[in-house]
Amino acid sequence: MTTLPRIDRDRLPALLEAMPKAELHIHIEGSLEPELMFRLAERNGVALPYPSVEALRAAYAFKDLQSFLDIYYAGASVLRTEQDFHDMAWAYLVKAAQEHVVRAEIFFDPQTHTARGVEMGTVVAGLSGALERARRELGVSCDLILCFLRHLSEEDAFQTLEQALPYRDRFIGVGLDSSERGHPPEKFARVFARCRELGLHLVAHAGEEGPPEYIRSALDVLHVERIDHGVRCVEDPALVRRLAEQRVPLTVCPLSNVKLCVFSRMEDHNLGQLLARGLVATVNSDDPAYFGGYLNQNFQACFEALPLDATHAWQLASHSFEASFADAADKRRWHERLAETFEQFA
Ligand SMILES: [Zn+2]
Repeated sequence: MTTLPRIDRDRLPALLEAMPKAELHIHIEGSLEPELMFRLAERNGVALPYPSVEALRAAYAFKDLQSFLDIYYAGASVLRTEQDFHDMAWAYLVKAAQEHVVRAEIFFDPQTHTARGVEMGTVVAGLSGALERARRELGVSCDLILCFLRHLSEEDAFQTLEQALPYRDRFIGVGLDSSERGHPPEKFARVFARCRELGLHLVAHAGEEGPPEYIRSALDVLHVERIDHGVRCVEDPALVRRLAEQRVPLTVCPLSNVKLCVFSRMEDHNLGQLLARGLVATVNSDDPAYFGGYLNQNFQACFEALPLDATHAWQLASHSFEASFADAADKRRWHERLAETFEQFA
């Protein structure tokens, strides 16, 4: 639409809930809620280093990315069977459908599981089974993106790719996550080149805790199509101009950024600044079970703390469709639904 309908400020929270949107930065292992974690621990006879759900939640006071990752990997240890992976992904997808997520591009970390002796096939079958069911029963468009853990070696990433290739039709791309500092994109240049030859979509975490140079090398060395996080791009004005001109999407995760102290308060978050500079910024939940909220809570928290209005809501939803790897017909359909939702709130 050319002009947006006028929407009163007090209707903004309801609009944010109701508008269709895509989620492009969600680690499925980070959607494992403490309640499900304890259920799976019991089912599989795994001992957790926390006596109760409450004690586990109390441990979610992170001071940086690493302190979070330590608990995150401990939590993933309860995942053993195909059913476990299915149950975790299904729980997320049900929640996503309730939040009017029409498209979800879901990260998974196979190395977290294969290193514990869980077969790649078990992980992929459980997750992709849940996605198939969500397409059918919930009408959510969804796909998997396999992430390499950057604190491990490139050789390990190559082995992981090799193990995943028999399931090539079950994932649409690869990403790069885990500890950013000290693990620049260059470390994975060859494995990303191979994935590119295989026709996989490419994304990478960069510029969350790492410097703007990591964003540049993710683009120039890895040839990624999207930057996950990328909020530190603002330290480099030439890079910001390039990201805007080339319409490179940033998958921003506001609650995660505050929880991991990338910004000390939501009021300090640069989401508004990124939009003002013409960047294709989107809002995402990252690891919702750990960071205090799913996608809609991320939207609400940003709009409460920052000077954002309905125009920004439109931009963010619209960017999420543009930045997704869905086909053009789906994107058009979601844009139409977005326009209809805005008309309803005018
Ligand atoms: Zn992430």
